[in-house]
Amino acid sequence: MWNDARGFARRGLMFVLSSPSGAGKTTLTRRLMNADAQAALSVSATTRPPRLGEVDGKDYFFVDEAAFERMIQEDAFLEWAHVFGNRYGTPRAAVEDRLSKGSDVLFDVDWQGARALAAAAPDDVVRVFILPPSVDELERRLNSRGDAADVIARRMDRAVAEISHWPEYDYVLVNDDVERCFQELTAIFAAERLRRARQTGVATLAKGMSRRDA
Ligand code: 5GP
Repeated sequence: MWNDARGFARRGLMFVLSSPSGAGKTTLTRRLMNADAQAALSVSATTRPPRLGEVDGKDYFFVDEAAFERMIQEDAFLEWAHVFGNRYGTPRAAVEDRLSKGSDVLFDVDWQGARALAAAAPDDVVRVFILPPSVDELERRLNSRGDAADVIARRMDRAVAEISHWPEYDYVLVNDDVERCFQELTAIFAAERLRRARQTGVATLAKGMSRRDA
Protein backbone atom coordinates (compact mmCIF):
# COMPACT_ATOMS: atom_id res chain seq x y z
CA MET A 1 0.00 0.00 0.00
CA TRP A 2 1.40 3.37 -1.05
CA ASN A 3 0.94 6.54 1.00
CA ASP A 4 0.03 9.58 -1.10
CA ALA A 5 1.50 13.07 -0.63
CA ARG A 6 -0.78 13.67 2.38
CA GLY A 7 0.13 10.35 3.97
CA PHE A 8 -3.09 8.50 3.08
CA ALA A 9 -2.74 4.86 2.12
CA ARG A 10 -3.74 3.99 -1.43
CA ARG A 11 -3.73 0.96 -3.66
CA GLY A 12 -0.76 0.59 -6.05
CA LEU A 13 -1.48 0.85 -9.77
CA MET A 14 -0.25 -0.99 -12.83
CA PHE A 15 0.15 1.50 -15.69
CA VAL A 16 0.37 -0.29 -19.00
CA LEU A 17 1.70 1.66 -21.97
CA SER A 18 1.56 0.26 -25.49
CA SER A 19 2.30 1.72 -28.89
CA PRO A 20 3.80 0.68 -32.18
CA SER A 21 7.62 0.91 -32.16
CA GLY A 22 8.59 4.47 -33.03
CA ALA A 23 5.64 6.25 -31.43
CA GLY A 24 7.88 7.74 -28.76
CA LYS A 25 6.86 5.48 -25.89
CA THR A 26 10.38 4.82 -24.63
CA THR A 27 11.11 8.55 -24.34
CA LEU A 28 7.83 9.09 -22.49
CA THR A 29 8.34 6.21 -20.05
CA ARG A 30 11.89 7.36 -19.24
CA ARG A 31 10.67 10.91 -18.59
CA LEU A 32 7.90 9.62 -16.42
CA MET A 33 10.31 7.51 -14.38
CA ASN A 34 12.55 10.53 -13.80
CA ALA A 35 9.65 12.79 -12.84
CA ASP A 36 7.55 10.42 -10.77
CA ALA A 37 8.99 9.01 -7.56
CA GLN A 38 5.86 6.89 -6.96
CA ALA A 39 6.33 4.72 -10.05
CA ALA A 40 8.90 2.08 -10.99
CA LEU A 41 9.40 0.60 -14.45
CA SER A 42 9.02 -3.13 -14.95
CA VAL A 43 12.13 -4.34 -16.79
CA SER A 44 11.22 -7.13 -19.20
CA ALA A 45 13.30 -10.10 -20.23
CA THR A 46 13.85 -10.59 -23.95
CA THR A 47 15.61 -12.94 -26.34
CA ARG A 48 16.25 -10.08 -28.80
CA PRO A 49 19.87 -8.87 -28.99
CA PRO A 50 20.62 -5.48 -27.40
CA ARG A 51 20.54 -2.37 -29.63
CA LEU A 52 23.39 0.10 -29.53
CA GLY A 53 23.39 1.84 -26.14
CA GLU A 54 20.97 -0.55 -24.45
CA VAL A 55 22.04 -1.75 -21.02
CA ASP A 56 21.35 -5.21 -19.60
CA GLY A 57 19.16 -4.98 -16.49
CA LYS A 58 18.10 -1.42 -17.30
CA ASP A 59 16.46 -1.53 -20.73
CA TYR A 60 15.85 -5.28 -20.67
CA PHE A 61 17.26 -8.43 -19.19
CA PHE A 62 18.86 -9.85 -22.34
CA VAL A 63 18.65 -13.64 -22.10
CA ASP A 64 19.09 -16.55 -24.51
CA GLU A 65 16.28 -18.90 -25.60
CA ALA A 66 17.24 -21.53 -23.00
CA ALA A 67 17.14 -19.06 -20.12
CA PHE A 68 13.81 -17.65 -21.33
CA GLU A 69 12.37 -21.17 -21.61
CA ARG A 70 13.57 -21.94 -18.07
CA MET A 71 11.79 -18.84 -16.78
CA ILE A 72 8.56 -19.97 -18.45
CA GLN A 73 8.86 -23.42 -16.84
CA GLU A 74 9.51 -21.82 -13.45
CA ASP A 75 6.39 -19.63 -13.85
CA ALA A 76 8.67 -16.62 -13.49
CA PHE A 77 6.63 -14.46 -15.92
CA LEU A 78 3.43 -12.55 -15.24
CA GLU A 79 2.95 -12.66 -18.99
CA TRP A 80 5.12 -13.32 -22.04
CA ALA A 81 4.64 -13.08 -25.80
CA HIS A 82 6.30 -13.46 -29.20
CA VAL A 83 6.96 -10.03 -30.72
CA PHE A 84 8.87 -9.56 -34.03
CA GLY A 85 10.14 -13.16 -33.85
CA ASN A 86 11.65 -12.69 -30.38
CA ARG A 87 10.22 -13.44 -26.98
CA TYR A 88 9.49 -10.82 -24.34
CA GLY A 89 8.23 -11.39 -20.81
CA THR A 90 7.38 -9.50 -17.63
CA PRO A 91 9.26 -10.98 -14.66
CA ARG A 92 6.75 -11.68 -11.92
CA ALA A 93 8.86 -11.33 -8.75
CA ALA A 94 10.01 -7.73 -9.28
CA VAL A 95 6.47 -6.54 -10.02
CA GLU A 96 4.92 -8.29 -7.04
CA ASP A 97 7.68 -6.97 -4.80
CA ARG A 98 7.13 -3.37 -5.95
CA LEU A 99 3.36 -3.53 -5.70
CA SER A 100 3.58 -5.04 -2.22
CA LYS A 101 5.78 -2.11 -1.18
CA GLY A 102 3.10 0.24 -2.45
CA SER A 103 4.88 1.52 -5.54
CA ASP A 104 3.02 1.93 -8.84
CA VAL A 105 4.48 -0.11 -11.68
CA LEU A 106 4.78 1.02 -15.28
CA PHE A 107 4.78 -1.57 -18.09
CA ASP A 108 6.03 -1.04 -21.62
CA VAL A 109 4.44 -4.07 -23.30
CA ASP A 110 2.61 -4.86 -26.54
CA TRP A 111 -1.15 -5.46 -26.91
CA GLN A 112 -0.75 -9.12 -25.90
CA GLY A 113 0.95 -8.12 -22.66
CA ALA A 114 -1.62 -5.41 -21.99
CA ARG A 115 -4.43 -7.88 -22.47
CA ALA A 116 -2.82 -10.50 -20.21
CA LEU A 117 -2.03 -8.01 -17.42
CA ALA A 118 -5.57 -6.56 -17.53
CA ALA A 119 -7.02 -10.08 -17.29
CA ALA A 120 -4.76 -10.90 -14.34
CA ALA A 121 -5.41 -7.68 -12.38
CA PRO A 122 -8.55 -5.97 -13.78
CA ASP A 123 -8.92 -3.57 -10.83
CA ASP A 124 -5.30 -2.44 -10.82
CA VAL A 125 -4.45 -2.05 -14.50
CA VAL A 126 -4.79 1.24 -16.41
CA ARG A 127 -4.05 0.92 -20.13
CA VAL A 128 -2.76 3.78 -22.27
CA PHE A 129 -2.16 3.53 -26.02
CA ILE A 130 0.21 5.98 -27.71
CA LEU A 131 -0.28 6.70 -31.41
CA PRO A 132 2.26 8.36 -33.70
CA PRO A 133 0.93 11.50 -35.47
CA SER A 134 1.05 9.82 -38.89
CA VAL A 135 2.33 6.74 -40.73
CA ASP A 136 4.96 8.90 -42.49
CA GLU A 137 6.31 10.15 -39.19
CA LEU A 138 6.34 6.61 -37.80
CA GLU A 139 8.38 5.45 -40.79
CA ARG A 140 10.80 8.35 -40.37
CA ARG A 141 11.33 7.55 -36.68
CA LEU A 142 11.88 3.83 -37.36
CA ASN A 143 14.44 4.66 -40.05
CA SER A 144 16.49 6.77 -37.66
CA ARG A 145 17.19 3.87 -35.26
CA GLY A 146 19.92 2.13 -37.23
CA ASP A 147 18.11 -1.19 -37.68
CA ALA A 148 18.45 -3.14 -40.97
CA ALA A 149 15.97 -2.39 -43.80
CA ASP A 150 14.18 -5.74 -43.53
CA VAL A 151 13.83 -5.23 -39.77
CA ILE A 152 12.31 -1.78 -40.38
CA ALA A 153 9.88 -3.18 -42.98
CA ARG A 154 8.77 -5.90 -40.57
CA ARG A 155 8.36 -3.32 -37.80
CA MET A 156 6.14 -1.19 -40.05
CA ASP A 157 3.89 -4.21 -40.66
CA ARG A 158 3.79 -4.95 -36.95
CA ALA A 159 3.10 -1.30 -36.17
CA VAL A 160 -0.06 -1.41 -38.26
CA ALA A 161 -1.09 -4.64 -36.50
CA GLU A 162 -0.34 -3.13 -33.05
CA ILE A 163 -2.37 0.00 -33.85
CA SER A 164 -5.42 -2.14 -34.68
CA HIS A 165 -5.67 -2.97 -30.95
CA TRP A 166 -6.06 0.62 -29.74
CA PRO A 167 -9.79 0.19 -28.89
CA GLU A 168 -8.81 -2.24 -26.09
CA TYR A 169 -7.19 0.59 -24.10
CA ASP A 170 -8.65 2.95 -21.48
CA TYR A 171 -6.85 6.01 -22.90
CA VAL A 172 -5.34 6.97 -26.23
CA LEU A 173 -2.76 9.72 -26.78
CA VAL A 174 -1.39 11.10 -30.06
CA ASN A 175 2.31 11.85 -29.72
CA ASP A 176 2.62 14.80 -32.12
CA ASP A 177 4.27 16.92 -29.43
CA VAL A 178 6.23 15.02 -26.78
CA GLU A 179 5.81 17.79 -24.19
CA ARG A 180 2.02 17.84 -24.50
CA CYS A 181 1.85 14.05 -24.59
CA PHE A 182 3.91 13.87 -21.40
CA GLN A 183 1.59 16.36 -19.67
CA GLU A 184 -1.44 14.32 -20.75
CA LEU A 185 0.14 11.11 -19.49
CA THR A 186 0.89 12.73 -16.14
CA ALA A 187 -2.71 13.95 -15.94
CA ILE A 188 -4.04 10.44 -16.55
CA PHE A 189 -1.86 9.00 -13.81
CA ALA A 190 -2.83 11.74 -11.36
CA ALA A 191 -6.54 11.17 -12.02
CA GLU A 192 -6.29 7.38 -11.84
CA ARG A 193 -4.50 7.59 -8.51
CA LEU A 194 -7.37 9.71 -7.19
CA ARG A 195 -10.08 7.18 -8.07
CA ARG A 196 -12.23 6.63 -5.02
CA ALA A 197 -11.76 2.86 -4.94
CA ARG A 198 -7.98 3.29 -4.88
CA GLN A 199 -7.92 5.79 -2.03
CA THR A 200 -8.19 3.31 0.81
CA GLY A 201 -6.83 5.76 3.41
CA VAL A 202 -9.26 8.51 2.43
CA ALA A 203 -12.14 6.03 2.68
CA THR A 204 -11.30 5.57 6.37
CA LEU A 205 -11.15 9.34 6.85
CA ALA A 206 -14.49 9.86 5.10
CA LYS A 207 -16.17 7.11 7.14
CA GLY A 208 -14.96 8.78 10.35
CA MET A 209 -16.41 12.09 9.17
CA SER A 210 -19.80 10.58 8.39
CA ARG A 211 -19.98 9.08 11.88
CA ARG A 212 -19.25 12.49 13.41
CA ASP A 213 -22.06 14.08 11.33
CA ALA A 214 -24.59 11.41 12.26
P1 5GP B 1 11.52 -3.40 -28.70
O1 5GP B 1 12.21 -4.62 -29.25
O2 5GP B 1 11.30 -2.35 -29.74
O3 5GP B 1 12.18 -2.88 -27.45
O4 5GP B 1 10.05 -3.87 -28.24
C1 5GP B 1 9.20 -4.48 -29.14
C2 5GP B 1 7.81 -4.60 -28.54
O5 5GP B 1 7.81 -5.55 -27.47
C3 5GP B 1 7.26 -3.29 -27.97
O6 5GP B 1 5.92 -3.14 -28.42
C4 5GP B 1 7.29 -3.52 -26.50
O7 5GP B 1 6.28 -2.81 -25.83
C5 5GP B 1 7.04 -5.02 -26.41
N1 5GP B 1 7.47 -5.59 -25.12
C6 5GP B 1 8.55 -5.25 -24.40
N2 5GP B 1 8.60 -5.97 -23.28
C7 5GP B 1 7.51 -6.78 -23.29
C8 5GP B 1 6.99 -7.74 -22.36
O8 5GP B 1 7.53 -8.02 -21.31
N3 5GP B 1 5.83 -8.37 -22.73
C9 5GP B 1 5.18 -8.09 -23.89
N4 5GP B 1 4.03 -8.74 -24.13
N5 5GP B 1 5.64 -7.18 -24.77
C10 5GP B 1 6.79 -6.54 -24.47
